[in-house]
Amino acid sequence: MRRVEHPRFTTALAQIEDSIDAAWDSFCAGSGVGRGTAEARELAEVVLQDTSEFDWRVVDGALNQLTCPDCGSTLGAGDEGCASCDRANGFRFAAQETDRPGVPPGNEHAIRVSSAVARTRNRYTPRARAGYELLLPDLLSGVLPATAQAQRLKHLINQRTDDELEHLLTPSDLQPDA
Ligand SMILES: [Zn+2]
Repeated sequence: MRRVEHPRFTTALAQIEDSIDAAWDSFCAGSGVGRGTAEARELAEVVLQDTSEFDWRVVDGALNQLTCPDCGSTLGAGDEGCASCDRANGFRFAAQETDRPGVPPGNEHAIRVSSAVARTRNRYTPRARAGYELLLPDLLSGVLPATAQAQRLKHLINQRTDDELEHLLTPSDLQPDA
């Protein structure tokens, strides 16, 4: 089974998508704008003018409202090399990342980066996908791997073929003896 078909991955991805939708809906409601309206799309454009003022889920929610003028994908989700999507994807990186109570510092940053890979995996290599997607469910549970552990995973990922990487379901699939 490919990782993208496995419930561990699909459940985590759905959880992320739901949280982005909820953050956007709540931001629209707070701004007095109805969801899915022309005003909501204008609000999305405003958010993207300076993403450092907003939570990353609001920024991702804003991108969801807009269509790329060049490739027709959801803005920021087109293949790498689409100039408008590359620029919009970069907007994600300035957004605010606030850790939930009780998680290790940096957990929210890791969730943000991993979810960008999982949500627009067409933009990333099989190695990058494995490196981030395998960890996403654990990150959502509040875990953050230590640097040494992350480096060990990266080392093991580099030894696999692209096809093998797409069939990895959990980090422990990389370390069968652990
Ligand atoms: Zn595009």
